[in-house]
Amino acid sequence: MADGQKLTKLRELKKKMREDMNLPLRKSATNLVFGEGSSDAKLFFLGEGPGYYEDQTGRPFVGNAGALLNQLLYSVKLPREEVFITNVICYRPPENRDPLPEEIEAFEPYIDEMIDIIKPKAVVTLGRFSMAKFIPGVKITVVHGKPHGVDWKGRKLTVVPMFHPAAALRAGEVLRQIKEDFLKLPEIVKEPEKIEVKQMNLI
Ligand code: URA
Repeated sequence: MADGQKLTKLRELKKKMREDMNLPLRKSATNLVFGEGSSDAKLFFLGEGPGYYEDQTGRPFVGNAGALLNQLLYSVKLPREEVFITNVICYRPPENRDPLPEEIEAFEPYIDEMIDIIKPKAVVTLGRFSMAKFIPGVKITVVHGKPHGVDWKGRKLTVVPMFHPAAALRAGEVLRQIKEDFLKLPEIVKEPEKIEVKQMNLI
C-alpha cells in the first residue's frame, strides 16, 4: 500500500474512533489520543495510556516520559516523526490509573488495524500492559530488549518488549537497560529476518 493510501486509511480510522460512542473512558477524557508519527513507520511504539498532558493535547508521550522517549529515539538516530507512537488505550483513565482488561480489549481492534495499515517491521511495547497483549505470562525483567516472533491473530509480528520510559525515570538501573535496549533497534529495523527471534505460540 502506498504511503498516501496508508495516511488516508489512518485518518479514516481516527474518525471512526472519534465517533465510536462505545469506547470506554470517552466521557471523562478531554481528547482522543489516537497516536502520531509516520504512516510508513518501520517501528510501531505501543505505550500504556494517555496521561494529563496527552489528554490535554491529544498527542501521545508529550510529558516527562515522552521527553525521555524522544531522547532515546534521538540516541539511535530515529527521529520521532519516522516512527509511529500510540497506546493500548487511547483515552485517559481517571487519576492515571492502570488500564482495565476490558478497556484494553475495547481498543484492541483499533490498535490492530493501525498495525495492519502501517505494517511496521517491529512493534516495540513500552511497559507491561502492551507487552502482555502480545507476549502473555512473561516477566519484563527477563525478556526486555529481545525480539519475539509472535503469531498474532494470523499476523506474523516481531515484538520487542521494552521497559516503560516512566519506569526508567524512577530507577537508574532501568534507565541504563532501556538505553542499551534502544541501541538494538536500528539493526532490527534494517534486517528483522536476520535477528535471532524467540518463537512464541499464543493461544
Ligand atoms: N505514558 C504512556 O504510556 N503513554 C503516553 O502517551 C504517555 C505516558
